[in-house]
Order: sequence, then structure tokens, then C-alpha cells
Amino acid sequence: MCAMIEKTLSIIKPDAVAKGVIGQIVATFEGNGLKIAAMKMVYLSKREAEGFYAVHRERPFFGSLTDFMSSGPAVVMVLCGENAIARNRELMGATNPAEADDGTLRKRFASNIEQNAVHGSDAPETARTEIAYFFPELEIVNG
Ligand code: ADP
Ligand code: MG
Repeated sequence: MCAMIEKTLSIIKPDAVAKGVIGQIVATFEGNGLKIAAMKMVYLSKREAEGFYAVHRERPFFGSLTDFMSSGPAVVMVLCGENAIARNRELMGATNPAEADDGTLRKRFASNIEQNAVHGSDAPETARTEIAYFFPELEIVNG
């Protein structure tokens, strides 16, 4: 089902897991043409969160963001589907929930610009590196 089809990394961040909306977020993906090719729960260490968000290390919010991402369990997933990267970003909505369109995951579930419920890769190259950060090839189901 997912062989040769575009893949992207999705994370249900600790705020959304704490709110008990894993199921609603997964249902949104499944209801909008994205399939789950891998999924697991993780509780990132500060260092693991820093590694994942290394591209943002110079940003003023880096310390706070990585504290948040290591504050509780998160769900990491590989989503696959036609235009999975763009489709996921559309379903997520704008980074700042105050600017996110109605019906998007961030409008529905985010608390603020930092604790914004979901992560999604933004381009093919970042999707590849972000997927590899969490999943060895053998844990990604292509069948
Ligand atoms: P996105 O997740 O929409 O791709 P970015 O890549 O710009 O957004 O930022 C990564 C994450 O850093 C965001 O999802 C959010 O959790 C956090 N973040 C972004 N901008 C800010 C900000 N101005 N203040 C606090 N946290 C932020
Ligand atoms: Mg980003």
C-alpha cells in the first residue's frame, strides 16, 4: 500500500497526547487519504528533542520547545499517501493556532504557537531525515 508512495513524518505532540486526542488526530489522517505505515509512542529525552529540532537551534524558542517536546509522551508516525507531505501540512494548519483555518488539527487541538498539537515534515528531504530519526527501514510497512 505504501511502497513508492510519498511518506511524511507526523508527531502527535505531548500537549495533544495529554488532552486525550490521539484517536481524533489519527481518525483525521485516516479520513483524509493518509495511511499509517509506522506508529509508536515515545517519551523523548531533552537531548533527543534537541536532535530532532536541530535546525531550530539558533531560534529563541529552542530551549522552551525542546523542554516541551520532552515533557511527556508523544506519538510518532509515518504517514503515506499521494502528496502526503502537503496533505498533512494542510490538515495541520498554520503553526500559530490563532492563524490556523477552521477545522485544521491545530485550530481544533493546539494550545498556543509552541504547544501546537502536531508536527509534520515540510519537504521531501526533511521527511526522509525525520523518518530515519525515529524508524529503521524494517519498521515501515510497505505492504
Ligand atoms: P511548523 O511546526 O509549522 O513547521 P516551525 O518549523 O517554524 O513550524 O517550528 C517548529 C515548532 O517550533 C513549531 O511547531 C512550534 O512548536 C515551535 N515554534 C515555532 N515558532 C515558535 C514561536 N514563535 N514561539 C514558540 N514556539 C514556536
Ligand atoms: Mg517545521
